[in-house]
Amino acid sequence: MDSLKILTTLTVAFWFPSGCYTSSEGSWCYMEPQCGPRTWISLGHCNGKRQSPINIIQRDASHNPSLGPVNLVGYDNRKKLLEIKNTGKTVDVSLEDGLHLAGFGLPARYTAKSFHLHWGDGATRPGSEHQIDGKQYSMELHIVHTKNNLSISNAVKDSKGIAVLAFFIEESEKAKSKTEEAWELFAKNLKKISKKDEDVLLDGSFSLLDLMGSNDFTRYYRYAGSLTTPGCDEAVIWTIFADPIPVPPKVVRKFASELSSTESSKGPQLINNFRPIQKIGDRKVEASDALKSAATIFVFAPTVFILFLSIATFLPVFSV
Ligand SMILES: [Zn+2]
Repeated sequence: MDSLKILTTLTVAFWFPSGCYTSSEGSWCYMEPQCGPRTWISLGHCNGKRQSPINIIQRDASHNPSLGPVNLVGYDNRKKLLEIKNTGKTVDVSLEDGLHLAGFGLPARYTAKSFHLHWGDGATRPGSEHQIDGKQYSMELHIVHTKNNLSISNAVKDSKGIAVLAFFIEESEKAKSKTEEAWELFAKNLKKISKKDEDVLLDGSFSLLDLMGSNDFTRYYRYAGSLTTPGCDEAVIWTIFADPIPVPPKVVRKFASELSSTESSKGPQLINNFRPIQKIGDRKVEASDALKSAATIFVFAPTVFILFLSIATFLPVFSV
């Protein structure tokens, strides 16, 4: 996820022609060697032990039957999407209070503050941050929430202060018409914010739920991680939905082609804004109850085989 709100709240950010931000956390960028992700280790908590994103290995995820459907309140309200902005690092949409996330495995009620995206280079390179079994998707949507409606700057001080819902986005010609329409309405705004710091009010023509499509909110992974931009604060409970949202290829291409990362329309283009995979270390990823079939097969298949061998071995004895 993105800590751009923290940058604007806590620090004064300057833009350099080289494409690097300078803040109290130092200079950082995605693409250039002098300020790219390899250099972030000296910034904030970026060298910590619960960093994000990670590659989720499905067979290693532990099944947690108490992780039921994610409970979303207010996400169908189209009036809650306020403004869309090109921050130079992503496209960020601010949200009015009223969208809530609660329940299963979360210690409090969380309020959605904003959402943004990560992407690659259009057709040539995918750009999701998380991966599933080494697969990187076209894009990734992050909906950022804070515990009990704290400000972001206060939420990062709590190890469970932020909850992010993450959805993979997959290019697909089979996108459902309602989802396709919502993403086209969303992407139509990009040409109005082609340069960094440009913003525009949204017109209430689509909701966050419209963008999520018909995603199955029972199928997800859960783990403890961090922000994915400096200072990489280790304050995030991640919920990664297993099934991608199918979005038309022409929409995915718009993100990689219509935005500049600077105040000049000459670019460089805003592309490949994803952090590389981080070490999982001794953390455990949990699989929701509805994902148990996949997790159970991997865990129990060898057990069933051994049981079968044991029965086969002793069967003659029993039959005597
Ligand atoms: Zn993000």
